[in-house]
Amino acid sequence: MYSVEEFLKDLNPSQREAVLYNDGPSLVIAGAGSGKTRVLTYKIAYLLQTGYAPYNILALTFTNKAAREMKERISRIVGEDTASRLWMGTFHSVFLRILRTYADRIGFDSKFTIYDSADSKSLIKAIIKEKALDDKLYKPATVQAIISNAKNALITPGAYAASKELIEADIRSKKPLIKDIYAEYWNRCARAGAMDFDDLLLYTNILFRDHPDVRDHYRNIFRFILVDEYQDTNFAQHLIVHQLAKDHNHICVVGDDAQSIYSFRGANISNILNLRTDYPGCRTFKLEQNYRSTRMIVAAANSLIEKNKEQIPKHVFSDNDEGSKVAVLNAYSDFEEGYMVANRISEMRAISGFSYSDFAILYRTNAQSRIFEEALRKKNIPYKIYGGLSFYQRKEIKDIVAYFRMTVNPHDEEALKRIINYPSRGIGDTTLRKIGECATKHSVSLWQVVSDPLAYALSVNNGTLDKLKNFKELIDSFREAAEEKNAFDLAEQIVKQSGIFAAVFSDRTPENLSRQENLQELMNGVQEFCSLREEEGNESVSLIDFLNEISLATDQDNDKEENSDKVTMMTVHASKGLEFTNVFVVGLEEDLFPSAMCKSSEREIEEERRLLYVAITRAEKNCILSYAGTRYRNGSPTAMPPSRFLKDMDSRYLSLPSALNGDERPERREVDRFSSGNVFSRVHSRQWSDGQDSVNLKAKKSDLYNSEQYRPLTRMEQAVSKETSGTLKQIGNIQVGSVIRHDRFGRGEVIDISGDGDNAKIGVEFENVGKKQLLLKFAKFTVI
Ligand code: ATP
Ligand code: MG
Repeated sequence: MYSVEEFLKDLNPSQREAVLYNDGPSLVIAGAGSGKTRVLTYKIAYLLQTGYAPYNILALTFTNKAAREMKERISRIVGEDTASRLWMGTFHSVFLRILRTYADRIGFDSKFTIYDSADSKSLIKAIIKEKALDDKLYKPATVQAIISNAKNALITPGAYAASKELIEADIRSKKPLIKDIYAEYWNRCARAGAMDFDDLLLYTNILFRDHPDVRDHYRNIFRFILVDEYQDTNFAQHLIVHQLAKDHNHICVVGDDAQSIYSFRGANISNILNLRTDYPGCRTFKLEQNYRSTRMIVAAANSLIEKNKEQIPKHVFSDNDEGSKVAVLNAYSDFEEGYMVANRISEMRAISGFSYSDFAILYRTNAQSRIFEEALRKKNIPYKIYGGLSFYQRKEIKDIVAYFRMTVNPHDEEALKRIINYPSRGIGDTTLRKIGECATKHSVSLWQVVSDPLAYALSVNNGTLDKLKNFKELIDSFREAAEEKNAFDLAEQIVKQSGIFAAVFSDRTPENLSRQENLQELMNGVQEFCSLREEEGNESVSLIDFLNEISLATDQDNDKEENSDKVTMMTVHASKGLEFTNVFVVGLEEDLFPSAMCKSSEREIEEERRLLYVAITRAEKNCILSYAGTRYRNGSPTAMPPSRFLKDMDSRYLSLPSALNGDERPERREVDRFSSGNVFSRVHSRQWSDGQDSVNLKAKKSDLYNSEQYRPLTRMEQAVSKETSGTLKQIGNIQVGSVIRHDRFGRGEVIDISGDGDNAKIGVEFENVGKKQLLLKFAKFTVI
């Protein structure tokens, strides 16, 4: 354990000042890599050493992983025992704990289950179908996003229906019935005893608003509140913190407005900008020195973010080595981009002695990972991917977890729908539909109908009644076992008696093999969870504890192999707060980064620019940006102009490929677009104001923005490549030694020619992709 003097030495004067000031509210606003998270960590250690009890400190992080890391660091300073008693985690995990304790106050059972995003979408889909609405118009994903935004702005179905502005917006978009879908969704979740992710925040607010005794209880417990990544909190989160902190004002939040990247989830940069109004006397600390990255990386990132108009001016500098310029790689195609990055990783590893785990590949969308996976696999480079379909999202795992959920809460509608006929027990879709109709008619859960079909006059034949009875008895037997068994023993019983074990181990087809492995892996997970919890002194670990753990797993938490030597791949969004020695930011093309969906207003472009700023500032030593000239989109190769952001950056800090230096830049034309802004930010019901005007609910007026777009070169480029692409006619031009440019594989040299007629082939050694044999009849290339 350190003394206070000792550990304060690890901080620079501004950081130290921020750590030591605890007499009132404070805000640390500073650029990437300047030690904001470090300040928060050390402040907690400092508070502990100056007399705060660990259970009086609440620290909120953006991911579970960040909470774990922070706890680990604090343990090193104050000891593990003390650190383990801190209230530390994501908003969702901390307030889930509180909601379970006080569930009855808001009309829930303490064993409510959690709907993940797929569950909510499936329920929304079912409601759209039941209401016989057109799902092309009422797209489930869109409706889901609208409901989610409403919840994050604390707009309940009643408030939604009463809001002229929202209703008018829905009428304009030809979806006037969203309010009804929302109301039905809300009721169905309540009947199923389920909360979705947004509900965890919304219901916490309701709990604190309607039950001042509960709120006061937690106000007394949380004597000091700290929040990391404050720029990405939404209104619901902001208000929870405010409800808890506004009397004692012992609050410290850290953030960087230049890294606000979650506005699509309702995050609101004005939360940070308005902090001084919400917490009178709030002191602001600025940190300016970046300790993470080389001077070159910091300069390049600064030159990019300067192009954003809406930001708090900051001076960020680094005293680290100058480092190399940010390299820009230009690939012919997305395919070649994959190989270029893989090759560069091998080279850098060989030349500079880096480990694989020193590299990260960051992309705008999960779908981009496939091409890099392929290239890395071909080159035997080990990698791990975060995000995408996580382990707990796989079908067979969700099926088993649905049994777990039913055991804990049989009213869980989505879980029941998954397993009532899995493994098959002869309860078909028609029966399920009838159960659903019956439940809606009587406003009860599906389980209530299944448990007592006669009471609800369910019209099915006797055979079906028997099957339903058996299903009910099966679930009841698990519920009884849950009273006495720990999570692992119970899980084992469920897997066996439900018939899942028999179904998965019935044959050894390759698909089943992977299902068997996954099932085994899940059981390992339950066992490990139980033994860890037991080690921590918990006597009996229940299934609901396990469900709590897995239902809040985030992108960054799929991490079983934390210490293994592998390249990391993830979206830029998931990389927030992390750092890597070498970072590749890939796919820097118009309509990909910035995304085609986020370029209709300058406000959206600014968010995309911040996203790239986040990506670049993850790098410690080397940052490499790449873009491809063509990319497969919707089944055909499409020409992709380089991202405008490449031109935003000062070229003194970049090492550019010739294409960007010369005049191959695409032409620009100006497009005026009207942006309506986020309608939710303008609709707030007075119900959330607790009588004092300190919570700033004002939102910005919508503005008219100009946006810039580039004219794609698709046609011209395609015409050029068609004219000269490889046909038999051209075979005469080709000889060993000819240099060609292939649409997908890039530049290469012909090393042999064989066969004739339809079978004529050339062997080509490509610069990046390696050796390939091409059948001339089909190959698309240009001789250069
Ligand atoms: P981000 O904006 O990306 O979340 P941040 O501001 O939270 O960044 P940290 O992650 O706290 O920054 O710090 C960045 C890196 O710099 C970390 O590796 C941290 O350990 C190191 N660091 C911060 N302050 C100091 C210091 N005073 N001396 C040495 N290293 C430091
Ligand atoms: Mg941080």
